[in-house]
Amino acid sequence: MRRLLVVGAHSADFVWRAAGALARNSTAGGESVVVALSYGERGESGELWKQEGQTEEKVKQIRHAEAETAAAAVGARLVAFDLGDYPLRVTPEAVDRLAELMRDFAPHVVLTHPDRDPFNPDHPTAHQAVAQARLLSSGAGVDSGFRTAPPTEFLVFEPHQPELCGFVPSVFLDITSVFEAKKEAMRAMAAQRYLQRYYAERAEHRGNHARKVTGDADIRQAEAFQRLVPNVVGQL
Ligand SMILES: [Zn+2]
Repeated sequence: MRRLLVVGAHSADFVWRAAGALARNSTAGGESVVVALSYGERGESGELWKQEGQTEEKVKQIRHAEAETAAAAVGARLVAFDLGDYPLRVTPEAVDRLAELMRDFAPHVVLTHPDRDPFNPDHPTAHQAVAQARLLSSGAGVDSGFRTAPPTEFLVFEPHQPELCGFVPSVFLDITSVFEAKKEAMRAMAAQRYLQRYYAERAEHRGNHARKVTGDADIRQAEAFQRLVPNVVGQL
């Protein structure tokens, strides 16, 4: 049973970039947890701010409900840190909370944003916080003077404009069997309706790339990831 942890700067980030990974992990009997560091209430809730008299509090409530629905669609549990966005500021206490969550949950795999994004001030901030919490939770691979969890695999998910974020995929995940669940999760994110078609098309493109790599004609949709640490295997 695999434990997968996905950490996003904003409450919808996991849906576009890793909902397929979460759904595949959940349907395989694994445990999936999503941490939303903020609700993206100020910077990533475009549709909601068109409504007259809108407030940050109301937007956060709607975004929480949307993210819970989306997480449920892919069999994941949502943990919301509510740290605020644009700018996201991850306090030392929040890093400690994330590290403690990692020690308790002991994920096999941690997924988050790449460390660069010229279009978003919060995504690289989330990356730094996750990278730090991951190291604080696992120590240096030796006995430590604090409670640790085993080291995790560490990957980043695909950003909106991959080339400009230095993202080079090293893993394609076949999400064909769970694509309907991903679409359902995307539909739950009504505040960012404009992204649903974009990420459905992205999944088709990555499916094409995955077919080319494998020759497996049954792959229709895929998600792309980049490993930050080598995977260790017994045989090539
Ligand atoms: Zn975001």
